[in-house]
Amino acid sequence: MAEQAAQRFRALPSVDRLLKHSRCAALLARYNHDYVTQKCREALDQVRAEIRQAQPSSGDLHEDAILGRVETRIAAESRPGHVRVVNATGTILHTNLGRALLPQAAIDAMIAVAGDPINLEYDLAAGKRGRREETLQSLLVELTGAEAATVVNNNAAAVLLGLNTLAEGREVIVSRGELIEIGGAFRIPEIMAKSGAILREVGSTNRTHPADYENAVNEKTALLLKVHTSNYKVVGFTAEVKLEQLVAIGKQHNVPVMEDLGSGALIDLSKYGLPKEPLVAERIQAGADVVTFSGDKILGGPQAGLMVGKKSLIARMNKNHMQRALRCGKLTLAALEATLRLYRQAPEITHVIPTLRAFTRPLEEIRALGETALPRLQTALGSDFRLKLENSTAQIGSGALPTEKLPTVVIAVEHAKLSADAVAKKFRGANPPILGRVNEDRFLLDLRTIFDPQELVPNFGGVESS
Ligand SMILES: *Cc1c(COP(=O)(O)O)cnc(C)c1O
Repeated sequence: MAEQAAQRFRALPSVDRLLKHSRCAALLARYNHDYVTQKCREALDQVRAEIRQAQPSSGDLHEDAILGRVETRIAAESRPGHVRVVNATGTILHTNLGRALLPQAAIDAMIAVAGDPINLEYDLAAGKRGRREETLQSLLVELTGAEAATVVNNNAAAVLLGLNTLAEGREVIVSRGELIEIGGAFRIPEIMAKSGAILREVGSTNRTHPADYENAVNEKTALLLKVHTSNYKVVGFTAEVKLEQLVAIGKQHNVPVMEDLGSGALIDLSKYGLPKEPLVAERIQAGADVVTFSGDKILGGPQAGLMVGKKSLIARMNKNHMQRALRCGKLTLAALEATLRLYRQAPEITHVIPTLRAFTRPLEEIRALGETALPRLQTALGSDFRLKLENSTAQIGSGALPTEKLPTVVIAVEHAKLSADAVAKKFRGANPPILGRVNEDRFLLDLRTIFDPQELVPNFGGVESS
């Protein structure tokens, strides 16, 4: 046995021979020499390990077979870590799936600036250095009615910058009913601590009154903070201090009011029969000194944190060195600007922003798509699968309209032998992966976020079909 293994070790080609093999030329044309050498070594190590364990797969020791392994390794390492998936979960803004899908105009804008120098921080008219957030500011001012605006990497960063700029080393008063946690890592008390501001909680979880703020204001108070409870709702015996009341208290004591609005809509969704999400313009109108919100929630643009408000306060944000550490890159700025321009100019905003399109889509359209998709899916899956088109409801997701559910249409997928979780796993293994949701032990493909019926037909083959 040992003799046989020794013989096989001797039969193995050297790395050098592998590199000189004609089949390797194609690899060396595409990848650098060191990398290919390393992969040849790894493939040989693998074969040696198999020989040592006398595995039958170690059978073919020919250069061709080993180079086949090298190619497989390289192909695996060349696949991006993030791949396209089909979102049939019904959650329109899914944080784990990258939230908003960009409008075409935003994608075009990113491509346009990606490979060339641009006047990112350069004032072409004056021939001198300019500010990178300048173009965005005018659009945001126009769309929200605020005096000034700036932008950072995400809304969590906007809140951090706002707290650090306005309240470092001093107190910020927040209602206990608004000490939110969003998606694991964003918690108001923690962000507050990191910003250097001192949290001063007032009221109780379910009820906070104007007097709670009044009594807490003192010479150390730097800011009154209001936080939109975007992923939960306190119901029952509750009392909340309205922004208008908070603004009045702030004015009286000469303390600014900042609101973390979370989603922050630029258009009124209730016009489309949807539950109303607070409008940024209305919050500015109501007197908030600074409002922060996300670029990739209901707004439907790239990940970004938008800050609008009083000129003097926004100017302080821009002067803070922390703004430099939290700033956006040119791709984000280009995408955001293009998205905001759509809000100003597009004939029908709900047609051009994919997030808004998914929100406002008529149920009949969703059902019609299901009727087209179902027979195709049935053909692809075979008779072990039982499919049914059904009405359902779906959560909106990602810190927007927490308790609201939208009516939707789903294809329920059941299998003669497999559990719902096993079916879900099978669909996740398709290329591209298809993600649905499991409800009462059934696998559901939600059609609200599906616009092409072919997307639902799984390719279990491994290689992307289209
Ligand atoms: C989503 C959310 C955040 C975090 O925003 P990101 O853009 O994800 O950083 C902060 N506050 C509220 C109220 C939110 O809803």
